[in-house]
Amino acid sequence: MATVHPIVEHTDSFVQRDYSPAAKRALERRPALFINNEWVSSSHRATLIVEDPSTGREVGRIVDASDADVDRAVATARGAFDDGRWSNLPPKVRERTINKLADLIEAHAAEFAELEAIDNGKPVGFATMVDIPGAVDHLRYMAGWASKLGGEVMDPLALPRGTVFSYVAREPVGVAAQIIPWNFPLLMATLKISPALAAGCTLILKPAEQTSLTALRLADFVAEAGFPPGVINVITGNGHTAGARLVKHPGVDKVAFTGSTEVGKIISRNATDSLKRVTLELGGKSPVIVLPDVNVEEVAPAAAGGIFFNSGQICVAGSRLFAHRSIFDRMVEGVTAATAFWKPRPSLDPQAHMGPLVSKEQMDRVMGYIEAGKRDGATVVVGGDAPAANGYYVNPTVLVNVKPSMSVVREEIFGPVLVAQRFDTLDEVAKAANDTSYGLAASIWTKDVSSMLRLAAKIKAGTVWGNCQAVIDPALPFGGFKQSGIGREQGREGIEAYTELKTVIIQL
Ligand code: NAP
Ligand code: MG
Repeated sequence: MATVHPIVEHTDSFVQRDYSPAAKRALERRPALFINNEWVSSSHRATLIVEDPSTGREVGRIVDASDADVDRAVATARGAFDDGRWSNLPPKVRERTINKLADLIEAHAAEFAELEAIDNGKPVGFATMVDIPGAVDHLRYMAGWASKLGGEVMDPLALPRGTVFSYVAREPVGVAAQIIPWNFPLLMATLKISPALAAGCTLILKPAEQTSLTALRLADFVAEAGFPPGVINVITGNGHTAGARLVKHPGVDKVAFTGSTEVGKIISRNATDSLKRVTLELGGKSPVIVLPDVNVEEVAPAAAGGIFFNSGQICVAGSRLFAHRSIFDRMVEGVTAATAFWKPRPSLDPQAHMGPLVSKEQMDRVMGYIEAGKRDGATVVVGGDAPAANGYYVNPTVLVNVKPSMSVVREEIFGPVLVAQRFDTLDEVAKAANDTSYGLAASIWTKDVSSMLRLAAKIKAGTVWGNCQAVIDPALPFGGFKQSGIGREQGREGIEAYTELKTVIIQL
């Protein structure tokens, strides 16, 4: 079912640029784990290949953590939590330390952006504009909460005033295991670690096997920022081994995961035995709903950006276009024209807007969906194929004549593939948009305030955008309805998810 990707010599248009000396140093480092503020060797010799998806070439190696490595990291984080070396520091010291880490990332922004482009395949320009500043923002936003979290004094309902003193304290939940995907590696890393750190938790971060470089580089700055040993630990390795062991480990109090719904369910089951606290940010199949009154010349390129940005490898990708019948053809034409802007290029090309997909596996998955769509009767308006190159490129693709039962409409493809459908009425489109097991995000495009608000109320999704999309801000809660997740990250809810409430009642 997967399309065979032809192996060809690089054509001129797909030549990756030379890496900088800083990136080469990061790639040549000895595979190691970051535990207790030290770079340590694994207990065994297993490594994983680091690949540049723009070329399909091996560019480095990382540790494939063993069970003993995971146990060591958890024991370290446990010790660092239990003796209070981090949680008992004055909040202003925690705040300053987290901000210092943000400063260090900012000071090395160009190197982080390049590593992200090499490892994930995303265009270096977008990594520079989106990933790295976003990563810094998450740290700075949550740093402020370290000094603002607090409890409450509350009077009991059934006792005379003055006979008891009762209060509700907020304490850090403990040791957090944080497992992240490959689509926004550094951004996901800081999004995860920042609330844990601000709350006073210690943590073990496991980046995705395909994209561990920036998490490892981040670890280089942990001691310099001033974190005591054992507070931030970074282990690389496979999800079904190292990740699964972390999730089941009795020394872990909370698991935070971003990734596929399928793995989210496994994690949820594995965490149940010890009733760990779990937050899950999972997949999506987000609708883009375009009403008849819009300016198609503006909205069509925006809809294209909503699906082709990051090669469609975004949980909130606007992967299902619903355009009103009266503008459907013009919308499809407009999105098709906009694909010229998203022509895939190697990630270090400063002109690149879309790079390759992250891996051969992901490319095959996406091509498999396109083939399935064609078999099911969908029509390819543009794309549907892969350019001849050694990297994992897929051309931006638009499918029409799709039916709600097709896998291209129902399943998260996580690639540059848009399915376009028509609608006539608001009720009809709301029903079609909600006809999915996901509920992560949606965008609505109209100048009609009343239609906007009526639709926003009907859509079952954690985030609804009006006349914009993919706006994700550290101050605003983010998460999914239905099978798109459990809990919310970011904002006040994001840090509260790393705390336990303790009610104290003292008789006077
Ligand atoms: P994934 O399997 O969900 O991986 C995400 C993370 O979970 C990785 O760090 C992974 O480790 C780890 N993991 C895998 N199995 C685990 C287990 N049993 N216990 C603990 N951790 C485990 O995602 P993927 O395979 O990379 O991508 C597959 C599909 O997931 C994509 O095509 C897309 O549909 C979806 N996805 C969604 C998001 C999102 O943001 N919602 C992000 C990425 C992918 P490894 O490093 O070994 O994989
Ligand atoms: Mg890679």
